[in-house]
Amino acid sequence: MRKLVTWALLLTLLCGANPVFAQGNVADKYRSGMIERFVKYAQIGSMSDYNAEWMTPGQEQIAQALYEEIKSFGLPTYLSEDKYIYVNIPSNLKNRKAPVLGLSAHYDTTPDILGNGVKPQIIKSYDGKPIVLKNNHVIDFESDPYLRNMIGKTIVTSDGTTNLGADDKAGVTIVVTLLKTLAENPKIPHGPIQVVITPNEDVGRSAERLDLKYYRPDYAFDFDGGVDGEMVVENFSAYGVIVTAQGVNGHQSYAAENGYRNSAKPIADLIAAAAPAENLPNNSRGDQGYIEPHHIEYNQAKNTHAVDFRLRFFDQQEGKRYMDRIKQAADSLQNALDAAITVKVTAQYENVANGVKPEALGMINQAMKEAGVTPKPKKERAGTTSAMIMAKHGFGGYTVFTGQNNPHAFTEWLSEEDMFKAYKVALNLVKQAAQMNASDK
Ligand SMILES: [Zn+2]
Repeated sequence: MRKLVTWALLLTLLCGANPVFAQGNVADKYRSGMIERFVKYAQIGSMSDYNAEWMTPGQEQIAQALYEEIKSFGLPTYLSEDKYIYVNIPSNLKNRKAPVLGLSAHYDTTPDILGNGVKPQIIKSYDGKPIVLKNNHVIDFESDPYLRNMIGKTIVTSDGTTNLGADDKAGVTIVVTLLKTLAENPKIPHGPIQVVITPNEDVGRSAERLDLKYYRPDYAFDFDGGVDGEMVVENFSAYGVIVTAQGVNGHQSYAAENGYRNSAKPIADLIAAAAPAENLPNNSRGDQGYIEPHHIEYNQAKNTHAVDFRLRFFDQQEGKRYMDRIKQAADSLQNALDAAITVKVTAQYENVANGVKPEALGMINQAMKEAGVTPKPKKERAGTTSAMIMAKHGFGGYTVFTGQNNPHAFTEWLSEEDMFKAYKVALNLVKQAAQMNASDK
């Protein structure tokens, strides 16, 4: 009896002295449960819908299931009216205040491709041959060079009649498995942790009804990225600008006398002035942004023409240039053509680099290194949940890999190994944050 106690004490001391070693062992215990969990989520059809007022029934179903699962771990879990799932875990550190670590993922899948009725296929020790799915969809090395790294490993695909939904049920699996780990291993030291699992990411609305009372971390990491080591450290800022010209009714032939004004001409001239060919999407690559007059709408009843511009850029100065050009053109055309022109600007997402604390990069680099992962920072020519949060709430975060490949396609697949590595990264982030002082921020 006495001997047993001594051993237990020794083990605790060892673990305390070498937390990396201890966490590695802890992580392995949860690996097999991850695939099971992922498959369970993939089978709940939870597509979001551009036309929905807010929720779809499938999203509601998965939100409820996630809420109940996390709550069963005994963690402080809250399902909001808008079906965000929040978990706020208080710090277990004594005598010290660590910064708040935030982790997020989204449970909806894209409305762009059928994602209900998913039949996940688990392929264990993949043999390297082309994977032929229903309806002649094929996943092979040619279409997917990264697949070469999966020989002998476990991957998951759909049966080809739907997408898989690894975007972002891989992320949800990672976050939920982390929560289970923390609940079952109360000795893992951690500061305050805030988790949010959101709806409606794939319709660009995941930040829309986010409640900052439950999610306003010092350091935020979104688990919704691609392959091993990938992390999005910058993304496009995106602005929608709608310029409307108001026409005046009357007979054209007597326009000089009756004040008749056409609403098409100001819009045509404005597009020419604000969006020259060299700034169109087809002439933009790498770090360069663009300005696109995406479509024009004529409203006969109101006698208006409106152009919907899409602005995308990494560099704020570049964005400002595009914006200024639109505004200047609107002003001068208003005078020259004697037409009423209005400009409406909407921020859709914002480059997270403009709102990430500098220590975040060191945290994620270290967390990856300790998980045996080489960090591959990336600039994404698109938006992310973090970018939507950044635009709406002014704080940014990096997007971390999850093992999802080919999102929004029948050939979407998941790397079990990458998903597990990302979970280890999440666990290491907990450790990183716990070692920092709240005053460090
Ligand atoms: Zn996603």
